[in-house]
Amino acid sequence: MAFEGLTDRLQDIFRKLRGKGKITEEDVKVAMREVRLALLEADVNFKVVKDFINRVKDRAVGQEVLQSLTPGQQIIKIVYDEMTELMGGKESKLNLGSKTPSVIMAVGLQGAGKTTTVAKLAKTLVKQGRRPLLVACDVYRPAAIKQLQVLGEQIGVPVFSMGQNNPVDIARASLHHAKSNNRDIVILDTAGRLHINEELMEELKNIKEAVNPDEILLVVDAMTGQDAVNVAEAFNNDLGLTGVILTKLDGDTRGGAALSVKAVTGCPIKYVGMGEKLDALEVFHPDRMASRILG
Ligand code: GDP
Repeated sequence: MAFEGLTDRLQDIFRKLRGKGKITEEDVKVAMREVRLALLEADVNFKVVKDFINRVKDRAVGQEVLQSLTPGQQIIKIVYDEMTELMGGKESKLNLGSKTPSVIMAVGLQGAGKTTTVAKLAKTLVKQGRRPLLVACDVYRPAAIKQLQVLGEQIGVPVFSMGQNNPVDIARASLHHAKSNNRDIVILDTAGRLHINEELMEELKNIKEAVNPDEILLVVDAMTGQDAVNVAEAFNNDLGLTGVILTKLDGDTRGGAALSVKAVTGCPIKYVGMGEKLDALEVFHPDRMASRILG
């Protein structure tokens, strides 16, 4: 289960707070020290934790809270509010612009779940009455093209490929193909690498320039914790992301990526992957995620 360790820890801390009739400033400090440790152990970014704790503490030691009838309850509510805010506040919708076709460019490292995720996204868009076209821009591994074609067939979405041609040319050609085949959203599955390198970034920048995407979505594996956040920061600095899709949230991720990525990069999480099946993609709701983490 995702967040299990963090949720257990927080529930323990909150149980103690709730049990007290009267809460002093000192009690708040002690509780916040424990929350701080729990977040650090869940692999949340150090600076994010520090700011978070300070914000909660500032609000929690106010007279209205400590002298209220249910101080413990109110402090828990403050933690919930701040955690929701940390993850972006409200849900962040896809912004598909007004031109046709809209262009979504998916980027990410190999193994993050990019190819699976573009298929899931296409399926979601079909359900919304859209007509997506999947585009195989990952030309370095023939298996990747095949994988996309197989997924496309499963969900009934056409896949545009030009074999191992130049990905920039493929991306450009896919827009013409979409126009002449009445597809209204182009989703580019770009090449991943094991690590970020200049060659990869150069290629992605060239694709971006060629097709001017409405959305540049980074697909990252939530299981990799702070690494996911570092990857997001690097991609955002080089490419300018419009959002993040966090995959494998059905696994036993500790929570660091979900809680840090927005605060560190400024990019909202738009969707989360909740399994290998093609309908296991969910819109990311910061408030629901905070409820889930707090247990
Ligand atoms: P790519 O190299 O980034 O294109 O990654 P793939 O799409 O090939 O996915 C790599 C592996 O992660 C595959 O086995 C997927 O089934 C799996 N995967 C992708 N998303 C999720 C998810 O949300 N949850 C789980 N449990 N597995 C996922």
